Amino acid sequence: MKTDRMGTHSFLFLILTHFLLLTHFLYAQDKIIHHYTVRISEDLQTLYVEACFGNIAFYHLYAGSNLSAANTKNIRLNNHFKTRKYSADNYELALHQNAANTTLYYEFDLGQVKNRSRWNSSGKNSQFLRIPPDRWLWRPLELEENEEIHVTFDFPKNVYYSVPWQKIGLHTHLIDRTPYNWPSAGAFGNLAIDTISVSGCKLAIAAPGGDYPLKRKDLLHWIKNAAASVTNLYGSFPVKNAQVIIIPIGQKNEPVPFGMAIRGGGFSLEFYIDPSRPVEEFIADWTATHELSHSLLPYINRGQMWLSEGMATYYQYILMGRDGRLTETEAWQRIYNGFQKGKDNSPGKSVKITAENMRNYHAYPFVYWTGAALMLKADVALRKNSHSRKSLDRVLKQIQDRHIPATRTWDGREMLVEMDRLAQTSIFMDLYKKYINVTHFPVDTTYWKELGVLISDGEVQLTADAPLAHIRRQIIRGQK
Ligand SMILES: [Zn+2]
Repeated sequence: MKTDRMGTHSFLFLILTHFLLLTHFLYAQDKIIHHYTVRISEDLQTLYVEACFGNIAFYHLYAGSNLSAANTKNIRLNNHFKTRKYSADNYELALHQNAANTTLYYEFDLGQVKNRSRWNSSGKNSQFLRIPPDRWLWRPLELEENEEIHVTFDFPKNVYYSVPWQKIGLHTHLIDRTPYNWPSAGAFGNLAIDTISVSGCKLAIAAPGGDYPLKRKDLLHWIKNAAASVTNLYGSFPVKNAQVIIIPIGQKNEPVPFGMAIRGGGFSLEFYIDPSRPVEEFIADWTATHELSHSLLPYINRGQMWLSEGMATYYQYILMGRDGRLTETEAWQRIYNGFQKGKDNSPGKSVKITAENMRNYHAYPFVYWTGAALMLKADVALRKNSHSRKSLDRVLKQIQDRHIPATRTWDGREMLVEMDRLAQTSIFMDLYKKYINVTHFPVDTTYWKELGVLISDGEVQLTADAPLAHIRRQIIRGQK
C-alpha cells in the first residue's frame, strides 16, 4: 500500500513535471510580439503610431534621441479598462504601470523635426523627409530572446518609406537587436525604392522621386558594382540586408562628396551625390566601395577609428584593383598617395591620441591612412608567415562567421585580440603595440622596396625583383 501510494505520488509528480516542462518549452517557443502600426498624414507633418504590446511586463519605453520627447504628442495607454495619458521626458517614457497587453498611441510631429534638423532636406522636385527611425520609435529598452518588435507601415499610396529593418511582410519589418539608441537612417515621402541582390545581400535603395540626369538604372548599377566589389574579399557580402539612401545635393566637383555608414537597426548607408555627373564618374569613385567595406567589421568604438576607417581605407583601392577598375600599378599608386597624405596630415601625436581626440585634431587623413598602413602590414605579415595560407581576407571571413551582424560596440584592441585568436597569430597585437603610441608613420620607403614598389618623384613603379613582390601581387589579385 505504502509503495503503491508512493508510486501514485511519483506518477503524479512525473506528470506534473512533464506538464511544467512542456509549458516551459511552449513558452520558450512562443514569440512575444509587440506590433506597431505606423500611419502618416499626406502632408508628412504627423506620424500616428499604435503599438499593441505582447504579454511581458515592462514599465518604460525609450527613444533614440533626447529630442524625441519634444516631438511626441498625445501619448495614451489603453489597458482594456481605461485610457491614461502620459508625457515623455527627453528619451524616456515612464508608464507607471505594467505595459503587458496594453495598446499605446502617440503622435510624432514631423513638421517640427523638419525645421530643426540639419539632416532633413527636401528634394527639388519632390517632397521627402529624412528622419532616423530611432527618433520616433518608442520601444522597450531590451528584448528577451523570444521577444520581437514588428512594425507595419500603413501609408497612403503615394507615400513611401525607407527603414533599416528587415522586411518580413509586404509592409512589415522586424526590428533588429542593435541598441535602441544607435543612430539610424530613414526617410518618408516621394521616394523611388528598388531592391537589388548582390551575392546573398538584399540592398534596398531609396532616392527622392523625380527626374535627375543620372538615370535610375545607372544609379542602381553604381551601387551594385560597388557591393559586388566587396564580395571579392571572401565570396559573399558581409551582411544579408542593407539600406541605402541617396541624397542628391546639386552640382559639386565630384560625384559623391560625402557618404557614411550607419549602424542602428541594421547596416545602412547614406550617399550625398551630384546627380548631374555621368555614371562613369560614379563607377570610378571610391566612396561607395569604402562605405560598403565598413560592413566587414562590427561597430568599433569611435575613439579607435584607426581600425574601422583603416580597414575600409585599406580595402577601397585594393577592391578597385581586384575588380579591374584600377590596374595593379594604379592601385598601389593610390595607396602610396594616401600614405603620403596621411603622413603630411600628422598632428605630431600618436594615432591613439589623435583618434581619441578627433574633435581637437581633425586629422582624418592621418588616422585613416595610418590605420590602412597597419592593415597592409598585418595582411603582408599574415601571408608571408603562412606561405600565403592566411590573409586579412580570411580573417575577415572568420569575423563574419562569428560576429556579424553585430549588435554591440567593439573596442578596437578587443577586435585585434580576436583577429589574432582566429588567425592563430600575434601579428595584430604586435603591430598595435609597436605603432599605436609612436608619432612616425608605420610604412617607409624600405618597406615599399621589399614589396617591389619603387618610388621616384612620387611615381610608383612595380618590380617583380623584390622579396615580397609575390605577396603584393596576391593582395591585388585576391589570391587567398
Ligand atoms: Zn569610412
